[in-house]
Amino acid sequence: MEGLLSEQNREWRARARQVAESVVRPLAAKYDRLQEYPWEIQKAIAQAGLFRVWIPEEYGGAGGDRTLNLCIVVEELSRACGGVGVLFAVNALGSFPIIIGGSEEQKRKWLPKIAAGETLAAFCLSEKGSGSDAVSMRCRARASGDAYVIDGEKKWTTNGSAAQLYTVFAVSDPQSKSRRISGLLVEKGAPGFTFKKTEDKMGIRCVPVVECHFRGVRVPKENVLGGEPGYGFRHAMGTLDYARPGVAAQAVGLAQGALELALVYAGQRKQFGQRIIDFQAVQFMLADMATKVEAARQLVYTAARAADRKLDNLTRLSAMCKVFATDVAMEVTTNAVQLFGGYGFMRDYPIEKYMRDAKITQIYEGTNQVQRVVISRALMKEATLLSDMLEKYVPKEVQYVLAEEGLPAEVAAAYSVPATKE
Ligand SMILES: Cc1cc2nc3c(=O)[nH]c(=O)nc-3n(C[C@H](O)[C@H](O)[C@H](O)COP(=O)(O)OP(=O)(O)OC[C@H]3O[C@@H](n4cnc5c(N)ncnc54)[C@H](O)[C@@H]3O)c2cc1C
Repeated sequence: MEGLLSEQNREWRARARQVAESVVRPLAAKYDRLQEYPWEIQKAIAQAGLFRVWIPEEYGGAGGDRTLNLCIVVEELSRACGGVGVLFAVNALGSFPIIIGGSEEQKRKWLPKIAAGETLAAFCLSEKGSGSDAVSMRCRARASGDAYVIDGEKKWTTNGSAAQLYTVFAVSDPQSKSRRISGLLVEKGAPGFTFKKTEDKMGIRCVPVVECHFRGVRVPKENVLGGEPGYGFRHAMGTLDYARPGVAAQAVGLAQGALELALVYAGQRKQFGQRIIDFQAVQFMLADMATKVEAARQLVYTAARAADRKLDNLTRLSAMCKVFATDVAMEVTTNAVQLFGGYGFMRDYPIEKYMRDAKITQIYEGTNQVQRVVISRALMKEATLLSDMLEKYVPKEVQYVLAEEGLPAEVAAAYSVPATKE
């Protein structure tokens, strides 16, 4: 679908593909085995200028369709290695809070270094007891003179220990309902800030995922995101709206990469005197895989374009592309393993890694179940726009039953009719 992309989009694709094919693909198996951060790959990505892609031009970034270009780059890197895809994309996750909610000073201080690939960033929201229900976090940030003091733990910080900058979300006002949480920018090496458990993972093994511990960590008040406490949850959720197309792009890249390997293999492997690609059952599998990958890609690009144009329906589109693309990645990578037969199950060959790397995309940055909750909530809101159809299209007896029983307040609100039941 090259023809649907702008010249700028295609330039980013070519630049990312060059790094992916010459540096990432040859090293993917090695770092998957070692489960170590691949600094040589990070350096190649920085040298190619890819870290500039999502940063605004005025802070050393590239400008243009920043989210779409980010997705294109993540897709290309993930096509060669899903771990490297997230190793790259997680820096966008860690820096979106600054782009969305940071003060001018914070933007000037951090974004140029991130764009240059000199500073790596991480995002600390999840805790042992709070994943999907992030608002129930326990990590605390209390004001003390000209600083905030952070105490608590964060679980599963991707890029943790490799990154220099951590956007940490903590409860700064436990009494407040709407402004309980603040985002704080914490630097590696701050006294009391340590990395504990490094996880041993099923997939994306080249990027570290660690526990971050905070014991009386003092950060100056100017490190509160946006300079004002209490907006952390809003910044975290806004960040995820912008970042989810990136996870979805990781999924598209993984699915595309697995599809290509399956195509190559099916064109070579012979059984019953013919290539397995000549069996119609295999052709139909490949046709479905390719169709789903393309559908996922177009939904991801649409969500990314919505982010670049700051459209109102971003939350919904972003959740939709995340759910769809990551479910497609799991299905396509599993089918690719199937097409390799017994060889697909062996660690000697790269295809099984695609399936392992794909699984996490359905879990992090909001599980797919939670994304479906987000989408259905948006749909229920949109139902209000359809309320004029109620009388014409809802069977009369249903309307009578509703009228007799009375409508609960939330249903009435959805259809813009008066509530008749408390
Ligand atoms: C490898 C890895 C990297 C990660 N990186 C980061 C990172 O960099 N920063 C960060 O902050 N976090 C990170 N996370 C955390 C990740 O975002 C959470 O794991 C995820 O949000 C799910 O939270 P949980 O694991 O606590 O699962 P839970 O929230 O406990 O969910 C368990 C199950 O219940 C389901 N469930 C929960 N609530 C609902 C609901 N309302 N409706 C229906 N089903 C529901 C879930 O879908 C899931 O299937 C990472 C996690 C992993 C594994």
